[in-house]
Amino acid sequence: MISDNVRRVVERIAAAAARAGRGNAHIELVASTKGRSLAEIDEAIAAGVRTIGENRVQEAEVKHSHLKGRVRMEMIGHLQRNKVKDALRIFDLIHSVDSPELAEEIERVGERMGKEVPVLLEVNVSGEESKFGVRPEEIYPLVKKVAGMRAVRLQGLMTMSPIAADPEIVRPIFRRLRDLAARIAGEGFPGVAMGHLSMGMTQDFETAVEEGATMVRVGTAIFGQR
Ligand SMILES: *Cc1c(COP(=O)(O)O)cnc(C)c1O
Repeated sequence: MISDNVRRVVERIAAAAARAGRGNAHIELVASTKGRSLAEIDEAIAAGVRTIGENRVQEAEVKHSHLKGRVRMEMIGHLQRNKVKDALRIFDLIHSVDSPELAEEIERVGERMGKEVPVLLEVNVSGEESKFGVRPEEIYPLVKKVAGMRAVRLQGLMTMSPIAADPEIVRPIFRRLRDLAARIAGEGFPGVAMGHLSMGMTQDFETAVEEGATMVRVGTAIFGQR
């Protein structure tokens, strides 16, 4: 049952937070809903899910017209530049800004729409070729660029875990993301906040919470195998 799964995931998040001495921290469960039906999403919402993460603008638009207002919708997948306008209409946060060009397009469209756009920068910490995201050494120039923008509001960092059976393999990656955010925060760039770390999925969300995640993106543990 989806509702039981949501409850269990919420409990596991709370237990991991307590283990790490973060018992009071608010950690947002972002239910990853790519490929899931409206009925499944409704069940998750009924069980207390407040935020869903989608990977494709077109799929999210269809869902948005049904769900409007009942749940926060956030973009967690790779965003194509030609989809920015549609994305800004439906998403409350974009986790996956992964290039200067995409940031520039969001700024351009956001300004035109008179909208502030909260974003996270996606960092490819693991260095896997197949992954989107800026490399850690490219992050400072991108933060500086975004710091000068008017519509784009930087709120933190996101990373995709490498697929690994052992969550301990991903722990150093989560630590590196946290350290990177702390160093950027220490620079005091105007208009840049580093309050959010979006990291951890079904295989490793407890490890991510132990390492400071403020948002975990969980699909399979809630909805089952796709
Ligand atoms: C699908 C997806 C998730 C959730 O993965 P699960 O293993 O099903 O929990 C998290 N983040 C992103 C970006 C995804 O595409």
